[in-house]
Amino acid sequence: MNELIAPALPFDMLPRAREAVRDVKLQQFVGNATHLKDTQRGGIFGRDFGNDYDDLRTVARDTKQYALDHLDELLERFIERAQASGARVHTATTAADACNIALEIARHHGAKSCVKSKSMVTEEIGLLPAFEAAGIATLETDLGEFILQIDGDAPSHIVTPMIHKDRVATAKSFVRELGARYTEDPTELTMIAREHMRGVYRQADLGVSGANFLLADEGAAVICTNEGNFDLSVGGPPVHLVFVGIEKLIRGACDLAPFLKLLARSGTAQPLTVYTSFVRGPRRSDEHGGPKELHYILVDAGRIGVLAGKKRDLLRCIRCGACLNACPVYRKVGGHSYGSMYAGPIGAVLTPELERAQGGHDAGLANYKDLPRASSLCGACYEACPVKIDIPKFLLHDRARLRARGLSPKSEGATLALWRMLSQRPVLFRMALRAVRFHARMLGKADGEQSWLTHAPGPAGAWTKSRDLGVATGESFREWFKEHKRSGGAP
Ligand code: SF4
Repeated sequence: MNELIAPALPFDMLPRAREAVRDVKLQQFVGNATHLKDTQRGGIFGRDFGNDYDDLRTVARDTKQYALDHLDELLERFIERAQASGARVHTATTAADACNIALEIARHHGAKSCVKSKSMVTEEIGLLPAFEAAGIATLETDLGEFILQIDGDAPSHIVTPMIHKDRVATAKSFVRELGARYTEDPTELTMIAREHMRGVYRQADLGVSGANFLLADEGAAVICTNEGNFDLSVGGPPVHLVFVGIEKLIRGACDLAPFLKLLARSGTAQPLTVYTSFVRGPRRSDEHGGPKELHYILVDAGRIGVLAGKKRDLLRCIRCGACLNACPVYRKVGGHSYGSMYAGPIGAVLTPELERAQGGHDAGLANYKDLPRASSLCGACYEACPVKIDIPKFLLHDRARLRARGLSPKSEGATLALWRMLSQRPVLFRMALRAVRFHARMLGKADGEQSWLTHAPGPAGAWTKSRDLGVATGESFREWFKEHKRSGGAP
């Protein structure tokens, strides 16, 4: 394992993460895809904005912060204007409330089938299991989500839910579940899925979607997709439900442009998503398409509690996925290791915080005590974030809370105590470094190669349960520095 990453993973890593760090295939899929996305993101921002990129992020940060600071006012305005255009607006305090509202609407219409486009908040509230339990057959229409649905699998990335799978796995799933002929050709695979979905769109009683932004001034929702499945979900069925977290509110279309510029570039390195759809009310008498009934279900599920707490900045997140792509730990362990539907750096801080806000003091952190330490604190997530959320700051804050509450693993305290003792005693420190380098020389290994001693003895064994014990380099920093200074090279 990359020695930079190894220290970032918690000592008491949960079994799911322990398995992931040993899954070479998973690391190959996730590592390659995220590395590519991250590189392309840097490229497109450099090409399109150059030195103005940081100013654009600042504008987006301030605009979203303004919306959060005036959420009550914007919420009222949105509700009033959406209702004026004929939509029905519901507010749900908890995940269960949100599901019950949807079930009530479905029952009222005698709905038996539903087409659903991609929505993180419906994953968060568990809408699909609730619909299934009520006998409402629901089809995921986002291609990635559809593949996961037929596989009985869960999303592992905010933007690219099936980042942990490849097209071979998809081809096999289509043969097994849809009776399709085997093909690994992406276009053919897409056509198979499309063929399967088209008929369902025409028959569905209910459409469900999320939204990327809510515009208070217009009482409208903005949905950004690449596959056009949202437009089919809203255009076909007679009733449509838009589920959206209340933090998605912004002032109005006047504030939208920076987010559209940042969202697609940060997520998929596109100038814009292929479809940017605006929805306001239900179908008007002079319109041919659209639902006869449009419902907005505005979900709190802990957000108001987060807003009142120290981590309110987290609600600025526009779910672009850039911090996941940039994160060296996410690249190694994938999304399922985080044990929550919000994975990666943002998930590591948002998941415990949402749970805390719903379950009382520190309940979240106690349930997810491995997450604050699932980071190398390299800062790549902050650099990638289009709305400048300082994720490392919040991770450090959570680590301090874990320590204060005695929830940190004992071995962590012992290691830090050893480090403190050595770093305060230069002679001992140098002796320790020499001992490590002696070990490397004895083994005759080149720098960076793995040691034959793969597990550390004693209590330190917990550290190497999921890591290789790397070999230290043959030259210390002090020696390197002295040598460069002597030869006149820049240190
Ligand atoms: S925290 Fe920032 S980078 Fe990560 S998903 Fe949210 S907006 Fe994107």
